[in-house]
Amino acid sequence: MSSLKDELPVIVAGGGLGGVATALALGQQGRQVRLLEQSAEIAPIGYGVQIGPNVLPALKRLGVDRDVLQAAYLPPELLLLDAYDGEPIFRIPLQGPAFERRYPAPYIAIHRVDLHEILLRAARQLPNIDLNQSITVEGFSQDSDVVQVQAADGRTVTGSVLIAADGLRSRLRGKLHPNDIWRSTGYVAHRSIVPADQAPQNMRARPGVTMLTGAGFHVIYYPLRGASEINIVGVFEVPDDLEPSSPAYHAHISGLISKAVPEVHEVVSVLNMTRRWSIADREPVRRWHDGRMTLLGDSAHATLQSLAQGAGMALEDAVILSGFMARRPDDPVQAFAQFERRRFLRTARVVLESRALWSTYHAEGIEAEVRNAQWRERSPEDFYCCLDWLWKGEEELK
Ligand SMILES: Cc1cc2nc3c(=O)[nH]c(=O)nc-3n(C[C@H](O)[C@H](O)[C@H](O)COP(=O)(O)OP(=O)(O)OC[C@H]3O[C@@H](n4cnc5c(N)ncnc54)[C@H](O)[C@@H]3O)c2cc1C
Repeated sequence: MSSLKDELPVIVAGGGLGGVATALALGQQGRQVRLLEQSAEIAPIGYGVQIGPNVLPALKRLGVDRDVLQAAYLPPELLLLDAYDGEPIFRIPLQGPAFERRYPAPYIAIHRVDLHEILLRAARQLPNIDLNQSITVEGFSQDSDVVQVQAADGRTVTGSVLIAADGLRSRLRGKLHPNDIWRSTGYVAHRSIVPADQAPQNMRARPGVTMLTGAGFHVIYYPLRGASEINIVGVFEVPDDLEPSSPAYHAHISGLISKAVPEVHEVVSVLNMTRRWSIADREPVRRWHDGRMTLLGDSAHATLQSLAQGAGMALEDAVILSGFMARRPDDPVQAFAQFERRRFLRTARVVLESRALWSTYHAEGIEAEVRNAQWRERSPEDFYCCLDWLWKGEEELK
């Protein structure tokens, strides 16, 4: 006979990529899952994401890898250019025998809407997954058998466990680590997607992921959806007190890129400057769980974008956590502890290497010249060696 706790749903707070993938993974085990999302609609946010070769094995476990590959664009290379002279600093092939021998899957670029929709569609097909919108989780309490999740509107939702996939600004992380808030870098990102036939000439000519980097800024772009669209990101160091809509804000960005090659100006000219994202990460912490509650995805280990792995880590988390929960169906607390032990170091390394890369990307003067000299000496094989720990994937997923 099943006990009360078996019948209670797993509660997932947050319907981003991490939350939906977790709900799907647990739903596929036959568990009751209740996902609580604060937005009125679990609506994917619409820009491109790069998904490293380590991530597709997780999507395969979820049974969505074919759909993802069908919707994906496969960039042939990562190309880094010096924003001041346009010269290549490195070029890392993402296709060809050397890449394919080494890594478990292709490197892809995909519209986040497409990826999120594929996961949501699979989740909606399972009657045991209940996707709830317009519920903001504020806190939780627990005893040895159940968690009570408090919502902002006064409702209480009872579950067997709580998985907090509530993103970079996670409230639930604050319950575990009250003095820990996100670490702002002073940089902001502006993004756009433009139809390829309306993009500036240079952008149409480059089929890979292209990044031009300078002191206090970088721009990055790559094709999406069969190369019919181009995803564009511009990242700028901006003083806190500058209002985004003010002329001073635009003057500041023009000043930052004033010595850059025309290609940078072309990219910035097609950016959507009305919406921006503050670039922030989280200090790595060892403790992600408290009894029947665990953090997952950005709430556990938000990272800067330098390695383009935030979503990738959230997807790996989802599959690995669900694996531990399947192996310990009656002991979620142990499953959470194992998950945390398994994932802490890999995700902390992503956070810390991304920070180091962030300052290297934005170096100026002699430091930038040394960076260029060092990276130009490296062969693709050298770069692969540096990325093997990440791109070869999680042991658990092999
Ligand atoms: C400019 C930029 C570029 C990026 N590029 C890449 C890339 O190329 N590759 C990559 O892998 N990653 C990339 N990332 C990172 C990636 O977007 C994140 O790491 C990933 O989305 C994290 O997923 P998540 O589900 O943990 O959190 P989120 O996607 O932030 O989802 C959290 C969800 O929780 C909901 N929520 C929050 N609080 C509550 C609450 N209290 N109650 C209920 N619901 C709540 C939110 O509404 C949201 O739906 C990029 C990020 C940025 C900003």
